[in-house]
Amino acid sequence: MAADATAADRVAEPVSIVSHQGSGVLEIVWADDHRSRIAHARLREQCRCAACESQWRRQGTRLQADPGLRLAQIHPVSVQGLNLVFSDGHGRGIYPWSLLRQIGELPEPLTPASP
Ligand SMILES: [Zn+2]
Repeated sequence: MAADATAADRVAEPVSIVSHQGSGVLEIVWADDHRSRIAHARLREQCRCAACESQWRRQGTRLQADPGLRLAQIHPVSVQGLNLVFSDGHGRGIYPWSLLRQIGELPEPLTPASP
């Protein structure tokens, strides 16, 4: 890992977290005014729990979440991140702020593979 980023070890914390159930978007406003809008399905795809990680390692691809998937519950995990529970019942993933910020920077949108 290259550590050349100026903001290397500084992880901004969120000042606001809003889940839009209708559009299926989690909106996070960070302390540095940056705004992340992340599809619920994408959060599910980026789950880092042991089960998802091992599936990723075995198959070499991330799970493709249904775009209709929604966040069911959001639990704060101390001061460092969120535990997200999804409408498919999956709820083991812990999302540290740094990961959420990183997922928010992934290229938009969730494009289904072309036929
Ligand atoms: Zn998982």
